[in-house]
Amino acid sequence: MRRISIFGATGSIGQNTIDLIRRDRAAYKVVALTGAGNIAQLAADAIDLGAEIAVTARQDRLDDLRAALAGSDVIAAAGARAIAEAAARPADWVMSAIVGAAGLEPGIVAMQQGATLALANKESLVTAGDLVHRVAHAHGAQILPVDSEHSAVFQALIGEDMAAVERITITASGGAFRDWPIADMAKATPEQAATHPNWDMGQRITIDSASMFNKALEVIETKEFFGVAPQQIEVLVHPESLVHALVGFKDGALMAHVGPPDMRHAIGFALHHPDRKHLPVERLNLAHIGQLTFKAPNPERYPALRLAWDVLEIGGMAGCIFNAAKEKALDAFIDHRIGFLDMAAVVEETLTVFSADSCLINAEMTLDTVQQTDHLARKRADEIIANRKG
Ligand code: NDP
Ligand code: MG
Repeated sequence: MRRISIFGATGSIGQNTIDLIRRDRAAYKVVALTGAGNIAQLAADAIDLGAEIAVTARQDRLDDLRAALAGSDVIAAAGARAIAEAAARPADWVMSAIVGAAGLEPGIVAMQQGATLALANKESLVTAGDLVHRVAHAHGAQILPVDSEHSAVFQALIGEDMAAVERITITASGGAFRDWPIADMAKATPEQAATHPNWDMGQRITIDSASMFNKALEVIETKEFFGVAPQQIEVLVHPESLVHALVGFKDGALMAHVGPPDMRHAIGFALHHPDRKHLPVERLNLAHIGQLTFKAPNPERYPALRLAWDVLEIGGMAGCIFNAAKEKALDAFIDHRIGFLDMAAVVEETLTVFSADSCLINAEMTLDTVQQTDHLARKRADEIIANRKG
């Protein structure tokens, strides 16, 4: 039986992972499940799957979790420390699906135990790519991409030589406002931004899709995952969300990965790797679909996207600063404190402030230095947001 843990079990990726696990229960021993505010879901899944431990990120919800687990054998725990401790429990395969920079530490700890890391939490590679790779290497841990574009690239590269790769293209749906007049985007509400045309995902990543901050994170993730140069990475708007990525080779061939917009494909690929097993996803009928369309993203509509290449040029801690400022700008947009298009301006300003500090940018990357930089960047982004409002 494979021992598995799911970090962010109550979220969109976590629930899709559990859906796959439930279809073949006898194959898995569930070690740890974690969540934050959704105690009822966390407890129900932990009891149903016979988990060893259930952890909520929220210390103030420990009593609720204990009550919900009463009468079962599942251990209850709370707080970021308890999540990291749960990650230290021996497991063969760990799903990293917490949203935001909070997902970094449990992934690192899991790899330190040698677990295979199924990485949905793109923020891990964006904030601390060097560190993540170093830990994986030191402990012989494998990282498998779960983000659909990166899973697609990974699959297109099977059996290929990286030296033959010319470019990597990741696609973007264009998000909720792809057909809106740009002038209207400034007035867009969080509720409008949280409706995705094709994918059913968590609120934060859905809003990040509308702004293309999600794609900016994925450009950085592409560089970190596959080691290509920034200018080899391209983004195309593909409204159908069926071609997830393409890899272009030296001989002119383009290998495209085509599949339904259902995260259970990428999750299942990572779960069964290196095998391919039956997955309960739609089989595409291309004759019925008829046509696939692609276009270059309009930089005026998606000011966040360009920042990804700025981050790659600055290097070092720039990804950590970018992500921290993005998380703060997103909080402020969700709270109606800033407008939709202000998010990119806040992140750019935060990045500009810190990029002049070469000591900070080039500091040795450890969990501590990353967390300190993350903290500083959040503080500065908050000040920038407050000043904009005033
Ligand atoms: P959700 O918002 O649906 O779920 C997030 C999960 O993290 C929930 O379990 C939530 O708990 C938990 N959580 C929230 N805050 C904290 C915290 N501070 N500490 C610990 N746990 C926390 O997100 P998604 O599932 O959509 O996304 C998860 C990750 O996967 C993100 O990094 C996202 O970018 C990435 N991803 C998601 C895709 C998707 O299709 N959804 C596609 C590709 C990548 P609770 O709900 O109980 O509050
Ligand atoms: Mg993606």
